[in-house]
Amino acid sequence: MRLLLLATEITTPVTTTDPACEAVLFDRDGTLVVDVPYNGDPALVQPVPTAAIALQTLRHNGIRVGVVTNQSGVATGLLSTRAMAMVNDRIEQLLGAFDVWRICVHDEGQGCPCRKPAPGMVVDAAYELGIPPRRVVVVGDIGRDVHAGLNAGARAILVPTQRTRRTEIDSAPVVAADLLTAVRMVLR
Ligand SMILES: [Mg+2]
Ligand SMILES: [Zn+2]
Repeated sequence: MRLLLLATEITTPVTTTDPACEAVLFDRDGTLVVDVPYNGDPALVQPVPTAAIALQTLRHNGIRVGVVTNQSGVATGLLSTRAMAMVNDRIEQLLGAFDVWRICVHDEGQGCPCRKPAPGMVVDAAYELGIPPRRVVVVGDIGRDVHAGLNAGARAILVPTQRTRRTEIDSAPVVAADLLTAVRMVLR
């Protein structure tokens, strides 16, 4: 069983040989904001408890921040691109501007290179920031996020929710109890 690191604990580095992190790419739903499936209503956007302080801490330390999010509801017609954009605007109102956004609007089976766990969005966001993937950390709430990061050559931290599967927690290279704990691990 993997030890969940509490926010109040002193955490150890991921490993001592890890390259310095220059950017953190966050999953959106279930990671930065409470997951409301196919949400198109800005009024329902609710950041998770430590999202604001985690982002503030990264920005204060000169680390770039981005979002990499699967939004298959656009492909399946459950969500309009306009509604999705309004939700993303609301997230930036509440949490501040992100340096980069990558959104996969495709569905499983379309074979796109961006839908997590494919590495496309992570590679692309890193390229836009001018940062090599090995200096990027991906933070997300499910195995897809972790694997998108690892598949891109980045590092990854899983921040589980109640809905995260046990197998995803057990197989994640690094697990943190919340976003602020994950950020402290990144900065160490
Ligand atoms: Mg998620
Ligand atoms: Zn895609």
